[in-house]
Amino acid sequence: MLAPTIVAMSLSDSHDASSSAARRPIVVQKYGGSSVADVERLGRVADRIVAARRAGNDVVAVVSAMGKTTDQLLALAREVTLTAEPPRRELDMLVSTGERVAMSLLSIAIQARGVEAISFTGSQSGIITNDRHFDARILEVRPHRIEDELVRGKVVIVAGYQGMSYRREITTLGRGGSDTTAVALAAALSADRCEIYSDVDGVYSADPRVVADARHLPEISVDMLQEMAHAGAKVLNAHAVEWARRAGIAIHARSTFDAVSERPKETVVRATPTTESMARAVSCDRQVAWLEVRGADAEARALAVLEEAGLPVLAFDASGDGARAILSLISAPDWKGTRDKLRVVGEVRDDVAFVSVVGPAIASEASSVAAFRRALASIRPVVTTLSPLRLSALVAAAEAESAQRALHDALVCAPVV
Ligand code: ADP
Ligand code: ASP
Ligand code: MG
Repeated sequence: MLAPTIVAMSLSDSHDASSSAARRPIVVQKYGGSSVADVERLGRVADRIVAARRAGNDVVAVVSAMGKTTDQLLALAREVTLTAEPPRRELDMLVSTGERVAMSLLSIAIQARGVEAISFTGSQSGIITNDRHFDARILEVRPHRIEDELVRGKVVIVAGYQGMSYRREITTLGRGGSDTTAVALAAALSADRCEIYSDVDGVYSADPRVVADARHLPEISVDMLQEMAHAGAKVLNAHAVEWARRAGIAIHARSTFDAVSERPKETVVRATPTTESMARAVSCDRQVAWLEVRGADAEARALAVLEEAGLPVLAFDASGDGARAILSLISAPDWKGTRDKLRVVGEVRDDVAFVSVVGPAIASEASSVAAFRRALASIRPVVTTLSPLRLSALVAAAEAESAQRALHDALVCAPVV
């Protein structure tokens, strides 16, 4: 397999607001599904892009499918599937259309405002991936067509979440993958700024929809955010954060719905930690399942099913006469088919959620572990796991929100010292 490479990557935090005298500053902006959920919102995004272009920037805008389009397309695929799981290649052909609709409408809306624009698919943008369908990884970015159009003065709109494999097949980058498109393009273009716009004005110490007193974090370290993203905080995709780390890019996370301003409220994601960027935060992943099997034979059969389905394993423990695993379901196009196979060999629960507190060295402090267990005592987790930057517990799905609030109160608002 080809090793992942980053073409023309030279960004670092220190380049963040700089630009060479010879060319206009390049700004890569990404707009998520909620930002373009309907025609009115799409028009407001077009206004924003036009403002950035008229301010003298070269603008590349990466766009997601409108609203819940991706979910709706996947639901259609499930309706016509007779076998256990829809073929992943065809799923990629299907879901990649969502971003094509959004990119072309956005380009039309920008041109209607008197600014030249052109839209490109992932493959036209030179996003080359491996050959894994539905959760492909970007190997290389060759953005020549984008560069040519920027030189001509056009705004370039790019369909997020998709690429082309080295076998020339259309691929998609896993749910939430438009963030990755944006950061990988920012690296390849040596962009001066990478701005990710969504329905929230940055990263908070917990999901602000769930924890009312979650704190806005003006800065966060790449390490912290990556751990949060792996633990389910979908504010930024974990692979996008990994690209930012490798390319030394600072990501500016902002709200699409705030007025355009010189100093918008935002979170800056940086490699260099500061006191603030080391704060603690709570994350929750609701797309998980719990598997328990008894005996070596059942364990081998269960692992074979997981291997075939390509399901990521978040935690695994084999002790006594059994094995237990926490599975991530985000890249499973048809979890129900896999679940039926697993139920033949063991016990499976998917009415669960994985709640975590992320923080520097958190798992090495006995006081934090004790506070974590106390906070969840009445909720009685199925299992508690830890990794250097994270304390996690699997809880009943119905308890997911109360668990996040309890953990935020105990370990973020009143950190143990
Ligand atoms: P987009 O569609 O623009 O990519 P997402 O829905 O993927 O946006 O991500 C934004 C959502 O992430 C927010 O609406 C918020 O509910 C959720 N979220 C989860 N954890 C956090 C957090 N720690 N800080 C901010 N938002 C968070
Ligand atoms: N539209 C894709 C999804 O819903 C990609 C994205 O939104 O980033 O996952
Ligand atoms: Mg997203």
